[in-house]
Amino acid sequence: MKEQIRAKFEAYRDEMLEDLAALVAINSVRGTTTEKYPFGEAPAKALELALAQGERMGFTTENVDYYAGTIDLGTTERMIGVLAHLDIVPAGQGWASDPFTLTLRNNRLYGRGVVDDKGPVVAALYGMRILRDLQVPLNKRIRLILGTNEELGSACMKYYAEHRPIPECGFTPDADYPLINGEKGNFLTILSFPNESTPVRSIQGGEVFNAVPAFCEAVLDGKQVDLDALRASVNTADTLGFQPEFSRDTDGNIHMITRGFASHGSLPHLGKNAVVSCALILVNYLGRSAGKMLRFVAESIGRETDGRTLGLKSEDALSGSLTFNLGWIRYNADEQKLGIDIRFPISLSLADMTSIYRKMTETHKISFEISSASEPHYVPRDHEVVKRLMAAYREVTGDEQAQPMVIGGGTYAKKLGKNFVAFGPDFVGMESTQIHNVDEHISLERFLDHCVICTMGMMRLAMD
Ligand SMILES: [Zn+2]
Repeated sequence: MKEQIRAKFEAYRDEMLEDLAALVAINSVRGTTTEKYPFGEAPAKALELALAQGERMGFTTENVDYYAGTIDLGTTERMIGVLAHLDIVPAGQGWASDPFTLTLRNNRLYGRGVVDDKGPVVAALYGMRILRDLQVPLNKRIRLILGTNEELGSACMKYYAEHRPIPECGFTPDADYPLINGEKGNFLTILSFPNESTPVRSIQGGEVFNAVPAFCEAVLDGKQVDLDALRASVNTADTLGFQPEFSRDTDGNIHMITRGFASHGSLPHLGKNAVVSCALILVNYLGRSAGKMLRFVAESIGRETDGRTLGLKSEDALSGSLTFNLGWIRYNADEQKLGIDIRFPISLSLADMTSIYRKMTETHKISFEISSASEPHYVPRDHEVVKRLMAAYREVTGDEQAQPMVIGGGTYAKKLGKNFVAFGPDFVGMESTQIHNVDEHISLERFLDHCVICTMGMMRLAMD
């Protein structure tokens, strides 16, 4: 069967790439909400186009109030779902070719959305067409669900789940192969410290929870801090090799810039935190007069990315260790706050996590508020949806060693509940596809592999 499916994809290749090109041409970044379009006009246009492509092939389609859309193969009540999205992140500057023109170069497809997630939309659509062409007997309807707001909150799927039936199981081709069957819980909080008068006027570092800050700027009172002494006090171990930059402004205040290395907030050990560097330098120099918040960062967080000293460390065999990222700092005359991004293992519940965290904040006499949080997501390895999709992956790739993974980042799968996993399209360990970056691309060969695996996966889930 996989050979027949591959041959069909090869036969449809040019038509499929034309459909993909038409979708890539729409800059479907979220726009202004209007009465008709919840996420602005461009995502709505991309949705209309994808539904028109499905209709052209003779499928039943529905526009779910411009939040989402559906394309169905079959009419049975029981159905499986494939969840993909048509919105994109901004293209950014510096592409080698126009991001909105699908470009084939060195056997690679370039364009914003070719991997995330317009390519997978088209792959699933043609997969459904091919299953129909080959008259594969299916006992369940296959529903391709198209979202338009994955990149900025997934309100599309919340709306879908409230207004339309959720398929009994399924997958989202919006992450990595071989398969992601679990996601750690998210626990994003803001820690607030009492305002204190210190020689520090302000500190600004990091903008979001889910990234390791690579830049931090502190302004210090020029009368209370001696620039030469501060400079001389800097310990290279506290800067991870990035020399801080000092300057004095016209008011006589001292500016200190520390730098580091960004990384995703779910992988803080891969980054170098510039805010932590700033705190280590200032606490080393100022001692107790650095104030409570900076001492908390320097002494209780430090370079740890598992919250060990804070008593938060937790791990399990399936999902590994809790991760702790200090994402941002706000320090000025009005507020002293830290933004913390924690991903906790699947063996903890959100209630467990909250009570452990509360205890920590009580110990340190600081207050916190939850910015956003979610339970872990886990579909057991012996669940049918995992077994069948892994079988499809192994059959096409021949990779018998591959095992399902639990990750710290979030995927679209969780939005439709406990029987959904993430499956492709990115092949871990192969050439980077530059998702969310400039020159997003996938090799034609890998894309075709993805098309076949996705189709085999849909088939196996829908057959009985
Ligand atoms: Zn995506």
